[in-house]
Amino acid sequence: MPTIPSLEADCSKCAALCCVVFAFDKSDEFAIDKEAGETCVNLETVGSNCGKCKIHTTLKQDGFGGCAAYDCHGAGQRLMQEIYKGKSWIDDPALLPDIMDSFRGMLIVHELILLLQTASRLPLTALETEKYNKYMDRLCPENGWTERSLLKLETSEFRLEVGEFLVSLRHHANEIQRLMRKN
Ligand code: SF4
Repeated sequence: MPTIPSLEADCSKCAALCCVVFAFDKSDEFAIDKEAGETCVNLETVGSNCGKCKIHTTLKQDGFGGCAAYDCHGAGQRLMQEIYKGKSWIDDPALLPDIMDSFRGMLIVHELILLLQTASRLPLTALETEKYNKYMDRLCPENGWTERSLLKLETSEFRLEVGEFLVSLRHHANEIQRLMRKN
């Protein structure tokens, strides 16, 4: 059985990736326009609170409800700890382009693991279980992910294949509805 990574975000072990990587249009959920790779104006970048959100406790009231709702499912801290070994774009801005590319890949990994884990609660057939195991093995490689393998994942056939597999589980519709009601 592959070792499944934690799917719970631990921002204390990350480097505020969601505060820099994504682009946002001003809306009800995000009070300003922001380009991808541009540091959020609310992120402290100096002093003892460096890397922390200045308005973390009042995000919703301040018009940043989208940040409060965001969940990377553990991809952020895993990337910074496993691939970048605790180095940060805040200390070394030259790392940012590579970190942004790798983060997109790690997000795909963690989202697919989460979806497959949810699917595994369905009464899968033997063939579906075989596919589930095969995909989990690929998503949780023994030697971990690298910048290179994460980059390749974004445009890979594998990603599409897992997506098609998940769609093919629609015939479990009644059970899916039951699980959704439970969640
Ligand atoms: S990317 Fe994930 S772990 Fe990192 S700060 Fe954002 S939510 Fe937290």
